[in-house]
Amino acid sequence: MPNSGIADAIVSLGRQALIRATDTLHDASNHALKWVPKTEALRALERSQGRAVGTLPVRCENVYGDTDSLFVKLHHVVNRNVAHDLGVYIAEEMSKENPPPVKMKYEKCYLPCILQTKKRYVGNMYEHKNDPHPTIDAKGIETIRVDQCPLTQKIMLKSLKLLFQPPHDIARVRAFVLKQWRKIEQGRIPVQDFIFCKAVKLAPGEYRSNNNPHVQVARRLTSKNPGAKPLFKERIPYLIAHGHADQMYGTKLTELAWSPDDFIESTSLRINEPYYIRHTMMAMKRMMLICGAGLGFGSVHGVHAKFDVALWMKDRSRTKNLSARIRIATRLNRTSSHRTITQYFASNICRLCGGSIANTTGTRAVLCAACASRPQTSMYQLQRHARATRLDHWKTLQVCRACSKCEETPGGREEEGVPCVTTDCSVYYGEKGAQEKSAEARYQVKAALGQLKLKE
Ligand code: SF4
Ligand SMILES: [Zn+2]
Repeated sequence: MPNSGIADAIVSLGRQALIRATDTLHDASNHALKWVPKTEALRALERSQGRAVGTLPVRCENVYGDTDSLFVKLHHVVNRNVAHDLGVYIAEEMSKENPPPVKMKYEKCYLPCILQTKKRYVGNMYEHKNDPHPTIDAKGIETIRVDQCPLTQKIMLKSLKLLFQPPHDIARVRAFVLKQWRKIEQGRIPVQDFIFCKAVKLAPGEYRSNNNPHVQVARRLTSKNPGAKPLFKERIPYLIAHGHADQMYGTKLTELAWSPDDFIESTSLRINEPYYIRHTMMAMKRMMLICGAGLGFGSVHGVHAKFDVALWMKDRSRTKNLSARIRIATRLNRTSSHRTITQYFASNICRLCGGSIANTTGTRAVLCAACASRPQTSMYQLQRHARATRLDHWKTLQVCRACSKCEETPGGREEEGVPCVTTDCSVYYGEKGAQEKSAEARYQVKAALGQLKLKE
């Protein structure tokens, strides 16, 4: 760093100013002479305006200081307008102790606030007096970290909003998180929410460790196409998929990481739901564990919940993801013969009712004995599903056509898919998903016709 001496001097002087400020804050004589009379005057003013104010004597405590900033906790202040005025007053008083032009400046009021660790905190921020609505201000936590997947960011942000809203009930947060985990299990979260993005700091070949999923994905991309070698600090998107059925156990995370393009192209890959549930659980746990000691239980809606996210995960009831199982079965049928017993059982469910088709003869059977015994109803249901999925796909294609105007370009052909590779677009994943569902539904109709020995 150029002029590191000057930088060190600035940091050192900042630290000295902070230590002086903390001493002033904690000094008992200052409490009696400065803060208490000022607070009483402010409280009297608030009372005259008909607002609720605290009654106990105010105590100021420095709870966190970082290079050039100070977090002061005002005990027994219930009204944030009082806190705001007192903050301005404290900053003015402390500025008097520093030589000009050094000044302390009041910045904002947090109500409530979670101080997780050094440089990691989040709170409901009010910048001005009488602000009607707070904004969530977060530093260093998962909601704003760019290497986190949008799923974790969204779940954490919404959970914090619920927790910060009166009555600050943890049971509401728990209900929300459990609902999101259920949605992950049932495949109701869009693919782009699962994508992580991490920057490569070296060329993919220069990394010694093999434990970085994004490096592994970059290596795979480079080996396929040397021209796609990532640049310095380029962010590599990747997501975590399930391993193949015959290598489920002992698989490294790096082997489960795939680029979004590969994931979309491959019909045998699916999102690793347990990994993402665990990942969101760990992020929530880091944040919530710190609240547990002070706040304990929440009891609105008659539900008691501890601030222990690991316990929420342990106690929750699992949901059966029938539609996902049917999709895996269809993928396995379409792509390969069954190689392992796990794959065999995965494909061994009826595509209509989810029942077992073990007793049905025929290796490519898609209907159970009960569904096969009423061919008209079963075929009608399968064909109706195929029509609905085709319509869904057609609708997403219309959005893409309006966006890229593919059919208007010379050589553009309407019946072919739109050749767009914008992986940042949510419609991109929607279109690929709808295309796959439509193909699967068509395959199921064909396979059922074959099983029932009917003609199209
Ligand atoms: S995927 Fe998105 S960007 Fe690409 S054509 Fe469709 S709407 Fe446009
Ligand atoms: Zn059935």
